[in-house]
Amino acid sequence: MEHFQVDCVVIGAGVVGIAVARQLALIGHSVWVLEAAGEIGSGTSSRNSEVIHAGIYYPKGSLKARLCVEGRRKLYDYCEQKKVPYKRCGKLIVATNTQQINELEKIIEKGLANGVEGLEIIEQPQLLALEPELNALAAIWSPNTGIIDSHQLMVQLQADAEASGAQFVFNSPVVSGSVIDAGIELIVGHTQPFKLTTSRLINSAGLHAVELLRNIKGFPEEHIPQFFMAKGNYFSLSGKVPFNHLIYPVPEQGGLGVHLTLDIAGQARFGPDVEWVMEQNFRVDASRSKGFEEAIQRYWPTLPKGQLQTAYAGIRPKLSGPNEAAADFLIQDQTVHGVKGLVNLMGIESPGLTACLAIAEKVAGQVR
Ligand SMILES: Cc1cc2nc3c(=O)[nH]c(=O)nc-3n(C[C@H](O)[C@H](O)[C@H](O)COP(=O)(O)OP(=O)(O)OC[C@H]3O[C@@H](n4cnc5c(N)ncnc54)[C@H](O)[C@@H]3O)c2cc1C
Repeated sequence: MEHFQVDCVVIGAGVVGIAVARQLALIGHSVWVLEAAGEIGSGTSSRNSEVIHAGIYYPKGSLKARLCVEGRRKLYDYCEQKKVPYKRCGKLIVATNTQQINELEKIIEKGLANGVEGLEIIEQPQLLALEPELNALAAIWSPNTGIIDSHQLMVQLQADAEASGAQFVFNSPVVSGSVIDAGIELIVGHTQPFKLTTSRLINSAGLHAVELLRNIKGFPEEHIPQFFMAKGNYFSLSGKVPFNHLIYPVPEQGGLGVHLTLDIAGQARFGPDVEWVMEQNFRVDASRSKGFEEAIQRYWPTLPKGQLQTAYAGIRPKLSGPNEAAADFLIQDQTVHGVKGLVNLMGIESPGLTACLAIAEKVAGQVR
């Protein structure tokens, strides 16, 4: 079996893995990205809402809050500089009953505490001027929320990484590994399996990041967190929607509620809902459309009947289960688990896309 020696290895070419590889290459590391699939971004990174989040919902001081706000600012600058398609279209978080108006107050307090700029509560007349078809009593207006072409973002990040010398190795699932004196040794199940030794390893394997650690001999078991998965299903609408902004209900357990997002081409999609699952499959059950219709009709009562079509699904890598408080991102380095040169990225659910550039800078600072 061939044996390679590489300075820095990133496992996973999702948006976070690619951003980390780019950052490490920019600061002079020689980097390989090992990706199980045959292309970039085939995991969660291509199964999300493509929203650039402002950073409103997360507990103050959490990694999600800090990296979302910082990552969002960096991402807008990056998109502008590199011509990655994006739109700072703004979003409305809507209260459809009086009880939810109190929720809006709590949400805006969190957002302001996180340093999110421009948030304000707007009342019905102003709201109707913005979105005449909307049924809501009041809303939070978030002008710094936007949408992005996530695939173009990944293509650009990869191009930057490669321009700084990073190499992407596809069809290369990391099967197992061991902690050794010289660093970490990996077995990679390529069509021609190979062995690789590295002194710096970033585990950015998304839905597989936790499971992968179980196959690394010498990694302390007590630092392997519990892992859960929550699927988010999407439906699309044939026909045009009468909205120009993203419309979100107040958040629900495990997710942000069935919201309306628009892609860069102006096509509407609804979702994601929250379906806790034990296995990974991305089928969307058409019978869920009834629940979607009910949820959407709360804020858009004139939704035409029977026009929702199954679209796609993504799966959130979660470190907290149903009915538990949402866990933060978990970025573990040597100071936590004791394995020199290893950084694990776990539970990188939303807002991981928004935060990717900030996560990358943080990880680069932690790799020794
Ligand atoms: C339903 C949903 C909606 C979301 N909406 C948003 C949003 O609007 N805005 C936002 O900011 N965030 C959103 N997110 C979160 C965002 O999509 C993720 O945080 C981000 O895509 C995670 O990227 P990643 O690189 O960590 O993981 P992934 O994209 O999953 O990449 C991991 C990669 O690792 C590879 N891999 C796995 N195991 C191995 C192995 N053993 N060897 C080699 N390669 C391996 C996989 O093939 C995959 O390509 C959403 C997530 C979901 C599920």
